[in-house]
Amino acid sequence: GPVLGIETSCDETAAAVVGRTASGAPVILSSVVLSQTEEHAAFGGVVPEIAARAHVEAVDGIVKAALTEAGTGLEGLAGIAATVGPGLVGGLIVGAMTGKALAAARKLPFFAINHLEGHALTPRLTDAVAYPYLVLLVSGGHTQILLVRGLGRYERWGTTIDDALGEAFDKTAKMLGLGHPGGPLVERAAASGDAGRFHLPRPMRGEKRLDFSFSGLKTAVRQAANAAAPLSDQDVADLCAGFQAAAADSVRDRIGRALERYRAELSDLADPVLAVAGGVAANGAIRAALNAACQGHGVRLVAPPLSLCGDNGAMIAHAGLERLEAGLFDGFEAPVRPRWPLDEQAAPMIGFGK
Ligand code: ATP
Ligand code: MG
Ligand code: FE
Repeated sequence: GPVLGIETSCDETAAAVVGRTASGAPVILSSVVLSQTEEHAAFGGVVPEIAARAHVEAVDGIVKAALTEAGTGLEGLAGIAATVGPGLVGGLIVGAMTGKALAAARKLPFFAINHLEGHALTPRLTDAVAYPYLVLLVSGGHTQILLVRGLGRYERWGTTIDDALGEAFDKTAKMLGLGHPGGPLVERAAASGDAGRFHLPRPMRGEKRLDFSFSGLKTAVRQAANAAAPLSDQDVADLCAGFQAAAADSVRDRIGRALERYRAELSDLADPVLAVAGGVAANGAIRAALNAACQGHGVRLVAPPLSLCGDNGAMIAHAGLERLEAGLFDGFEAPVRPRWPLDEQAAPMIGFGK
């Protein structure tokens, strides 16, 4: 049977039901996402207390809507999954308590999901990608290159040494007065900008290690903005275009190097794949940079639809489904973990419950 997934780690309250077709392909039976963008807009970022309160108010209705849309009641489910980390503790508690309570009431197995695992497994949900594969996770809080060897087996090859890429987009938008979340606003402004007008650094370019850095680029944008102030709309557009082009170049360089290692270390793969996940995967310039890097290395780029790039319940339900099938159950004592690096994910967890 299908699995219900609940996601409340940041500023989306989301629930979804994911099952499998007769042939074994994953199928999204429903997916409901309520974004709190409006609630936080006036504060220029996500306010944890407001987020937690909004999750409390919304979660029951969102879960009900997901079940209705899937055409199943709780009795039709094989398990319930909820994000228990990493993220904002208030929201995590709301989602975890809701999932555990429903699972306990219906005597269903419970799955305590790492949000990053949800993102990292999304290419298996959307494109049935086989293990192992490489993932670039680019979101508001993370920028990581992960080798996904199997369920629960994640090797981190690179990470950001300062800001996440989404965070850099958000901070750039904020300093240019564009609002929050900044990624889509920067991308829109960049469309009418001249990327060559301001000379901005390409962080980490040519470095051997597979890490990222974006805070120096952000500072360079700030300095260029100060020098050009007061800023016209064209100035803002040019700064956005310059920032986005520099970030995309940096990603292309870093991923190019990662793909070299991937092709060398996993040289016998019939279908080498780089998947992209997380909210920044929506960005056209970043996608183009990834495409270019993949073409140069004979690797197939898998980019999920935009609705599954940002936070959603389907990726959590799907991670729960894979864990159900692998017999990796969690007990109701599974704690919320506001900090939970993916490579600390326990793979050979001994199942208890059913
Ligand atoms: P994490 O997954 O690390 O916990 P999160 O869940 O908040 O963080 P997501 O919801 O996956 O992150 O992604 C949100 C981020 O994606 C924000 O920083 C947002 O600005 C960025 N983003 C969304 N659309 C775009 C876009 N078109 N271009 C660039 N960035 C974008
Ligand atoms: Mg979000
Ligand atoms: Fe996320």
